[in-house]
Amino acid sequence: MTTIWENVKAIQSTDANVRKYVFTSEGSKGAVAESVLYKYPTYEERTVICCSTQSGCPVGCRFCGTGEFFIRSLTGDEIVAQVQHLFADQEINPAEVARGQIMFMSMGEPLLNKQGLTDALRKLYALYPNFALLISTSAPDVDYKWVRDISVEIPTVGLQFSVHESTDEARDKLIPFKKKLNLEQIAFEGESWFMATGRQPFFNYCAHDKNSSQADADRLGFLFNSEIWQSTVSVICEQDESVAAANVRQRQLANDFMALLMDKGFSTRCFDPAGQDDIGGGCGQLWYVQDYAKNHPELTIKSCGAGKSKVHAPRVIEIVSV
Ligand code: SF4
Repeated sequence: MTTIWENVKAIQSTDANVRKYVFTSEGSKGAVAESVLYKYPTYEERTVICCSTQSGCPVGCRFCGTGEFFIRSLTGDEIVAQVQHLFADQEINPAEVARGQIMFMSMGEPLLNKQGLTDALRKLYALYPNFALLISTSAPDVDYKWVRDISVEIPTVGLQFSVHESTDEARDKLIPFKKKLNLEQIAFEGESWFMATGRQPFFNYCAHDKNSSQADADRLGFLFNSEIWQSTVSVICEQDESVAAANVRQRQLANDFMALLMDKGFSTRCFDPAGQDDIGGGCGQLWYVQDYAKNHPELTIKSCGAGKSKVHAPRVIEIVSV
């Protein structure tokens, strides 16, 4: 049991390879966080953790239940404690994991928590030098020199931008947070990060009916240099469609769009969200988290997308190496 968090609840998916955890603490500094643990197919072969960097999120993405409310940024220790608890709970020896990844993408915008993320990255690298540390960001308008510097300092850091649309107009609707980079600026920052680190950044794209045409692929190919960028296409689920039906149709959509991106020269992979149907794996939609927010109105503020969520999309990508 972690001493940083007062309570931890573990939820096993019907998919035996996925477990979700909800961490809570009470009082004026109370918070809720969630983490997801995946094995592929055993922890020794490949372990992936998605952990939270904030409690709730101020960005307010329309596809994300987390984006309905914001409590506060987590401390470095609160982030590290999630990871430590998952290892302990499943008796994983991190040193014996052949391919390990810790991804900052479960809840919160990592780049809006500079202090907590920096502290966590340093501590996690010291504890688990064999684990890749992936920052997944919606691209808020922050100081990207800091992101480059910490990525140079820590050679296991990877960077992924949630792009999701091929035009700024569509992306603004999906991600209403105003103080963010536009697509051209994302392309620039990704290239700068590549120049500084020598590692390839990723863009993540949730393909749906209205954003997966040849014209969308053309625009992405124009914006992002395929010699620098790799791409991930995620399968999304519409809220008004059963998960099973959605999965078949959306997976086909994602596969077709992947083929278009590959034609553009991108190394591309697909993410299909394991465990999303019953535990919200990889998506900040967990009922327990929503409940905590509802029961702690004194701690929460509404995010800019509150009340407008339409679809939920997995924000976990097919796991990549850095
Ligand atoms: S998708 Fe990420 S950045 Fe957007 S609201 Fe959810 S947690 Fe925040």
